[in-house]
Amino acid sequence: MDKCVFCKIVKGKLPYHKVYENESVLAFAPLKEDIIAKGHMLVITKKHFADIYDISQKELHQVMDAIKIISQKLKEKYNAEGTNILHASGKVGQQSVFHFHVHLVPRYKGDKIDTWPKTGYKEGNFPGVYEEIKDLF
Ligand SMILES: [Zn+2]
Repeated sequence: MDKCVFCKIVKGKLPYHKVYENESVLAFAPLKEDIIAKGHMLVITKKHFADIYDISQKELHQVMDAIKIISQKLKEKYNAEGTNILHASGKVGQQSVFHFHVHLVPRYKGDKIDTWPKTGYKEGNFPGVYEEIKDLF
């Protein structure tokens, strides 16, 4: 993981603006040019996991716990009226840094951020696909 930019941040080898930390999670400001809302931050595991398929249940829960804590504080401090929790796994999922991370994006009334793509996708096999997925468990 020598080349992983987030591992370098965890090890203190790159400058970053830390916001929150617990035993296994770090939250920090994205690069200035990547910030899309007041309080937008990245929440990562300190340990290297590539993506949702790689991360342990324990660490995933700790990331979500941190997101809950941070979201609550942003709501109180800045009156954020909503939050988007955005994650990408895999190249096809538009993951850019292959170290598990979640974007926490506080939402404000009238912020004009549109995080939900309108793809025009038409489900041609509804409810068949969902029945197949249900059978996986
Ligand atoms: Zn890493």
